[in-house]
Amino acid sequence: MQHKYRETVLFFPSQGQTCHAYCTFCFRWPQFVGMDELKFASKEATLLKEYVEQNTQVTDILFTGGDPMIMKAKIFATYIQPLLDANLPNLQTIRIGTKALSYWPYKFISDEDTGEMLNLFESIIKKGINLSIMAHFSHPVELETEAVKIAIRKLRSVGVQIRTQSPVLKHINDKPNFGLKCGVNR
Ligand code: SF4
Repeated sequence: MQHKYRETVLFFPSQGQTCHAYCTFCFRWPQFVGMDELKFASKEATLLKEYVEQNTQVTDILFTGGDPMIMKAKIFATYIQPLLDANLPNLQTIRIGTKALSYWPYKFISDEDTGEMLNLFESIIKKGINLSIMAHFSHPVELETEAVKIAIRKLRSVGVQIRTQSPVLKHINDKPNFGLKCGVNR
């Protein structure tokens, strides 16, 4: 866990310390290449819950990694359920940083625990907590597959917000009209 910004705590679930991708610009690589001394990971879901409980200025938790969407729904629930059960009045938003929409959209379509994961997402939202997928996309072409479109619809159908972020990458997305080349901005 890392209390990085006044309102925001980053949490690195230990089972999410690998990733669908190996981006060249990634600054998290020590966490998923076995350099144990550099790992931030914590298995302590209760520690997270207690920390947010005691630090009422914290409104946001960002689950990050690696990629937390490597985790099965059952494992992810072990981190989420204590937060929901605690009825934390200050907790407004849970964010999940993930490359899954681009590299494994089937996570939200047809994996054996897809239904369980979507139900868990829905239970967060029903509790009055915003849930945002912080989708790692480097180029609009990643939004063109049928699978990613279906996955986005599935997430939206249970009320998940999807936001995206990317570093500026030379020759990839460093021109204002880079999306035009693949027809995405038509
Ligand atoms: S998707 Fe994110 S965590 Fe995964 S390798 Fe790329 S930058 Fe790193």
